[in-house]
Amino acid sequence: MATIQDLYDGIRRCTACPLARNRHNAVPGEGPTPALAMFIGEAPGKEEDLTGRPFIGRSGRFLTDMLSTIGRARTDFFITSCVKCRPPQNRQPRPDELATCNNLWLQQQIDRVQPKLIICLGGVSAKTLLGPTDLRQQHGTIVSKGDYDVFLTYHPSAAMRFPKIRHAMTADFQQLDRLLQARSP
Ligand code: URA
Repeated sequence: MATIQDLYDGIRRCTACPLARNRHNAVPGEGPTPALAMFIGEAPGKEEDLTGRPFIGRSGRFLTDMLSTIGRARTDFFITSCVKCRPPQNRQPRPDELATCNNLWLQQQIDRVQPKLIICLGGVSAKTLLGPTDLRQQHGTIVSKGDYDVFLTYHPSAAMRFPKIRHAMTADFQQLDRLLQARSP
């Protein structure tokens, strides 16, 4: 069985979809393994592509701040995205790219991290994990997937742009704190 390090190495070498062509670095993710919870975003941006680390640009700083409002540190969580390579001009990842990365890497990462809770950041992540979803209706709620639960909230980039979404995401994180407490060993 592949270790988490095997997965990191495989992701860094992966050329299975067209996103590999333009990347500087693949961004496998980081955090403790196993971890109580795992955040899954959409795709790396410019700063992530340049450094190979997830959520370290503006969205990442926003996420870190949201976590600190509920008294939690990002280092306590495993953090990754649906695709591991930056799409050109930050376009949305395409369905075939999402499916390839999910089948090759994301599902194996979930198996290794063994989270009790997965937090989907944004609609692309929610759709990848659960199929068709309506974030406006379903944000702040959980869906059971058997081994783990999936909690849906907005992507930091949407919350940074729209005050209404920022308020909704802040309330979601209060709920997230309660869900984490209930799942803590
Ligand atoms: N947005 C994401 O979804 N993932 C990152 O790593 C950075 C920004």
